[in-house]
Amino acid sequence: MRDISTKKIIIFDLDGTLAASKSKMDDEMSDLLSGLLVTKKIAVISGGSWKQFNEQFLDQLQCRDDLLLNLFLFPTTGTRFYRYKSKIWIEVYADVLDPEERSKIKVAFETVFEEIGYKHPEKVYGEIIEDRGTQITFSALGQGIVKELGGEGVKLKHEWKEANQDLKLKIALNLRKLLPEFEVRTGGLTSIDVTKKGIDKAYGMRQIEKFLKIPISEMLFVGDALYPGGNDYAAIEAGVDTIAVSGPEETKKLIGGWL
Ligand SMILES: [Mg+2]
Repeated sequence: MRDISTKKIIIFDLDGTLAASKSKMDDEMSDLLSGLLVTKKIAVISGGSWKQFNEQFLDQLQCRDDLLLNLFLFPTTGTRFYRYKSKIWIEVYADVLDPEERSKIKVAFETVFEEIGYKHPEKVYGEIIEDRGTQITFSALGQGIVKELGGEGVKLKHEWKEANQDLKLKIALNLRKLLPEFEVRTGGLTSIDVTKKGIDKAYGMRQIEKFLKIPISEMLFVGDALYPGGNDYAAIEAGVDTIAVSGPEETKKLIGGWL
């Protein structure tokens, strides 16, 4: 088991690490994280929106109020930062795209779909192109699929990923040509995120260093996509110690071992 005595903060990815993709965190994970918050600071960083963080994570977290002071949340890959103060969650900063940038990105998606003759699936669930302010996100099956279908939605997303891996990479590749001044990442199972240049989890780690005054050497990152091309890989590039997990069950064993 990894010794974490020298680590001040444990940083977790959300989807596929603390909870299944776009799904609610379970009670067991909530208990384990509450236990860990007694002795460690915890940060959660993910491409998901603040709304998504609330539904998937915060609403499920049963934890003593004072322990929340040790919890730091970085939605949309660290372009927003929330911390708990005087009993409420406050936004410390938000690095939003301006309206021209946002419309340029949306137009680029439409252009690429046309270029490669991509047709959206007949049945989608909610928005396909979501404007998260700091990030524009394409979700092939729609943002709301898991909310609407639960576990079946997660299954459909995995199936889409298996069948359309090359297609997704092609969309991303063509987007990068149209949007060289932006960052285009193929993050989740069915999604592509576009943000300002230089926004990745390494950026998030540097924000943690800057705002929480914790050096990189005292951080530990836990995520399910720490392989090259994965959306957690930037944590390795940032020089942070990392532990790769296969999913929430392995994360639970890890935290259980520390406790
Ligand atoms: Mg993940």
